[in-house]
Amino acid sequence: MSLIVMKFGGTSVGSVDRIKNVATLVAKKVDAGHKVIVVVSAMSGETDRLIKLLNEIDEDYSHREYDQLVSTGESASAPLLAQSLISIGHKAKSFTGIQIGMQTDKSHSKARILGVTGERLVKALDEGFVCVVAGFQGFDPESLDITTLGRGGSDTTAVAVAAALKADCCEIYTDVDGVYTADPRIVANAKKIDVISHEEMLELASLGAKVLQSRSVELGMNFNVDIVVLSSLEDLPGTLVTSKEENAVEKVMVTGVTSDKNQSKITISGVPDKPGRASDIFTGLAEANINIDIIIQNTARDGVANISFTLPKTDLVKSLAVCKELAEKVGAISITSNEDIAKVSIVGVGMKSHSGVAAKMFNTLYKNDINIDMISTSEIKISCVIEEKSTERAVKALHDTFIS
Ligand code: ASP
Ligand code: MG
Repeated sequence: MSLIVMKFGGTSVGSVDRIKNVATLVAKKVDAGHKVIVVVSAMSGETDRLIKLLNEIDEDYSHREYDQLVSTGESASAPLLAQSLISIGHKAKSFTGIQIGMQTDKSHSKARILGVTGERLVKALDEGFVCVVAGFQGFDPESLDITTLGRGGSDTTAVAVAAALKADCCEIYTDVDGVYTADPRIVANAKKIDVISHEEMLELASLGAKVLQSRSVELGMNFNVDIVVLSSLEDLPGTLVTSKEENAVEKVMVTGVTSDKNQSKITISGVPDKPGRASDIFTGLAEANINIDIIIQNTARDGVANISFTLPKTDLVKSLAVCKELAEKVGAISITSNEDIAKVSIVGVGMKSHSGVAAKMFNTLYKNDINIDMISTSEIKISCVIEEKSTERAVKALHDTFIS
């Protein structure tokens, strides 16, 4: 008998009818002889609604109260699904994060999982129950305070539970039927990917593809959990995310094209060219919990250098204030910023064994009259920062060049 973790996102549990539909899908799995743990998100729009309420009271809210509040979205959808299962004749029980022993660190609103004890899940499964778990939430074992795992965190709950209970597979049901070579809303002829490695999926998810939270893929990679992305609305084959050799497919050069508009850039000019200055700047930013992405420092001239870096647009205001202080501290001359940028990326393990991929990417952008502001590469991805208004054009052109 195999153990399957099925995860349903907000849209899939967005109404009573949809929850009943999910119950039917779960019942089918149970009837086919599997043990099942279901992880659910909050009903669609609920997390945003709660965050908005909190902001109306105080934009400078306590992150502890934020977690107490937003975790209720999932605390509500789990029993609704459990009851739907009970109502159609199945044994089912819902659980909160604390009840399944979803232990995390203390960082409210973006907690990291320390481990899942899961005794109650094991016991309930043995007794023949379908376990319905509230996603996104955990708790700090010291204070017993509720924590949440960051937006989209139910995916990570699902993979963590699958890893802890050594499930055979973790199925992520969503409103799309798999992972595509590009966002189908931008590229009409984007194709569904049948099999993708964790490594590539991690890059795609980190670079802007929204279908899986990147931390869930990271966990899947570290614990070797196969993840299948599937539609909850249509019965179609999905995308398998795996690192098992037997699933290896012939390596294409580029597997996917993705973009991220939540990007901004800060340039600190006139940074004295002396040891320790970059360290001061980035230590200060890290202490302020600001996530930096691409960093470029030019070759120093006349004893000073310019340092530019990208960060989420949503962190720009907070970061500029921090940078002002840091610039003064290191004796830099000025700070400038730009919000009208986006990052376009191509991802593929095949890049490891092909040459000229970067040249081809830059040439495609050039032919489309798109200027490249910054470039960053890894073994399996190339990203270019461009102006935001050219994002869709760039994605289409890159998809044309490399995939279709
Ligand atoms: N409800 C949370 C969110 O909207 C977590 C999730 O859906 O995965 O981000
Ligand atoms: Mg999601």
